[in-house]
Amino acid sequence: MKIVEVEAIWLRVPKFDQACEWGEDALIVRIHTDTGIVGVGETDSSPAVVKALIETPASHETCQGLRDVLLGENPLEIDRLWKKMYRHSEYVGRRGAGVHAISALDIALWDIAGQHYGVPVHTLLGGKYRDRIPAYGTFIPKATDAGNRDVIRNLLGQGLRSIKLGGAGFGENPARDKQLLKLVREEIGDDVQLQIDLVGRWRNAAHALAQCEALRELNLNWVEEPLPSDDERGLAYLASLCRVKVSGGEGLATRHEFRNFLENTRPAIVQPDITRCGGISEMRHIYELAIHYGAQLVPHGFSTGILLAATTHFLAACEFGELIEYSQSDSPLFRKLVKNLIPLEAGQVAVPDSPGLGVVLDEEVIAQYRVNA
Ligand SMILES: [Mg+2]
Repeated sequence: MKIVEVEAIWLRVPKFDQACEWGEDALIVRIHTDTGIVGVGETDSSPAVVKALIETPASHETCQGLRDVLLGENPLEIDRLWKKMYRHSEYVGRRGAGVHAISALDIALWDIAGQHYGVPVHTLLGGKYRDRIPAYGTFIPKATDAGNRDVIRNLLGQGLRSIKLGGAGFGENPARDKQLLKLVREEIGDDVQLQIDLVGRWRNAAHALAQCEALRELNLNWVEEPLPSDDERGLAYLASLCRVKVSGGEGLATRHEFRNFLENTRPAIVQPDITRCGGISEMRHIYELAIHYGAQLVPHGFSTGILLAATTHFLAACEFGELIEYSQSDSPLFRKLVKNLIPLEAGQVAVPDSPGLGVVLDEEVIAQYRVNA
């Protein structure tokens, strides 16, 4: 089997000058083979940047477009191709967008392999540990108490027993934040998990520690990115003194960044995004690292149904893959791009058993939102 074409497809829902809360765009890839099997992947990154990294013609040995790196290759040789992509994009890659592009292509290669062998990706990964994965839902706080109560009731109505909030200035005003969390806890009761995402907004480690102490009575399940990922000393200080689990890592890529992050900050939970950290292949290494450091892996995941499928197959095949993020976006890129989107059923995601990732793309959605750049 040979790779005969690599497509990088940029999708965008609102016009470029329109603000959007989430789900505004996506970069999906399709890898075509000479047998007719087509693998799909995506990265939750800057679509234009990733598209360029895939399509650019070669400059020299360590500065090549990933499309040309893959053309003519056997897509079943996933590990060798991952290393080939990494090596030939070293000058513009190694971390960040270069690895985001590799992530999308790696996911598509796993999809091809599953289809070729006639088994779901989780079987290729060693077999599934579970048929259903409990999910958590994230929301951005609304301006009013009534608005927040509506959102929370909607989440609980989906059967979710774990919810997270963050964004819209959460983290900037301690008194307002605590008032909001009290309202949420009152609404969800004591048995539903509640986590908060600071997106690195707390101003320093001492401030973050004081906030965690002030919020003790709310029984938070984890505190996500209380400080920026690069504030390793601050995060290590917090992890050693704080009585709430600290999580982070959604912006990191490769086992190398996660090894440093785990070693230097000792988080309780790491949150790689499978479409950014290096794909399914690299996620396996990061999972093993997390176990080695005594941390739990709870993936970040908030894009299309391709990301959801890749994350579901991966977590199903992890011994401790026990919590998945389920997007709350109304964007057609989440709700409609994948025709057979894995549904949320009573707060859980059912693990699919069809070959590959098992996703069927809606060509009309692609045609409607495709950016022809
Ligand atoms: Mg986050």
